[in-house]
Amino acid sequence: NRQIVLAERPKGEPDTNTLRMVETDIPEPAEGQMLLRTIYLSLDPYMRGRMSDAPSYAPPVEIGGVMVGGTVARVVASKIDGFTEGDWVLSFNGWQDYALSDGEGVLNLGQAPAHPSWALGVLGMPGFTAWAGLTQIGAPKPGETIVVAAATGPVGATVGQIGKILGCRVVGVAGGPEKCAYAVDELGFDACIDHKAPDFAEQLGQAVPDGIDIYFENVGGKVLDAVIPNLNLKSRIPLCGLVSQYNATALPEGPDRMNWFLGQVLRKRITVQGFIIFEDFGHLYPDFAAQMGDWVKSGRIKYREEMIDGLENAPKALIGLLRGENFGKRVIRVAQD
Ligand code: NDP
Repeated sequence: NRQIVLAERPKGEPDTNTLRMVETDIPEPAEGQMLLRTIYLSLDPYMRGRMSDAPSYAPPVEIGGVMVGGTVARVVASKIDGFTEGDWVLSFNGWQDYALSDGEGVLNLGQAPAHPSWALGVLGMPGFTAWAGLTQIGAPKPGETIVVAAATGPVGATVGQIGKILGCRVVGVAGGPEKCAYAVDELGFDACIDHKAPDFAEQLGQAVPDGIDIYFENVGGKVLDAVIPNLNLKSRIPLCGLVSQYNATALPEGPDRMNWFLGQVLRKRITVQGFIIFEDFGHLYPDFAAQMGDWVKSGRIKYREEMIDGLENAPKALIGLLRGENFGKRVIRVAQD
């Protein structure tokens, strides 16, 4: 049983010393347990947070502990009601080949789900984050303008596509012309601006002639800086993530603009609301699952996945994700099903 454990807490960007692979025996399920074999491991930006012992909404991974992570797995052996050998499940095995589970928090996907790995993306946590953050905090009305960064990732792509379904103008922000072209041509965004362009802020301003009513915040940093002057009266900011800052070891250089920003919030009566998806909106999951299932099945919402083979490649793949090297939802194929 290969496991990837946290070897040391990274300072700044994680590197090849941060995580380490170890071998252990495959565990035996006791009465009331099942043995799961990981097929797909989800890679997500929050994993950087779990490497740190700074205070957060969830406890850190211990040094020597198996890295946490959402997984799609198959039941190898079951001594528990409701799960039988061969079932596909959405579970939280972490970065390892096999895990024991008592079934708590495990969702049975049945014997033959159409796209099992999608439960880690558009049909699971990231899709739910997009749907709940946009509809519950963003509260979009037809004709309003939405801006979302990380526009081709599982959260941003879904936010933008829901925005279009709800009749809004949607402007994405993404890293590079290829991602931007995909957001417009494939996902149907009205525009997408490359945050690496030297005149990024100017281009963003031109793409939102009526200002911004909803800024779905995924990244922070210079994207947020460029957004603030364009925010409308009574605009809403679902504060979902700040991925540009996850590897930061200090606050950015330059003038402290906190009071300027709060002045904007005050005068324009802007709502900024942070949220942690299952803590705040867990009770809405069934509504999400029904709605998103329909949208995905009918093709109204598209989903792009970037599959990488081999558990051993997961550390490098996570480092790359935090740098924006992924194009779509990054998933590790740990085993062939
Ligand atoms: P993505 O797959 O979109 O990956 C992160 C993306 O962020 C990168 O691909 C890159 O896209 C972009 N990025 C990275 N660094 C920068 C930077 N310096 N400036 C601008 N963009 C950058 O991630 P997810 O869709 O899984 O997650 C999106 C956000 O949602 C994250 O902040 C995550 O933490 C948050 N989240 C929050 C949850 C909650 O409960 N609050 C739950 C789930 C996710 P590009 O190259 O296009 O810039």
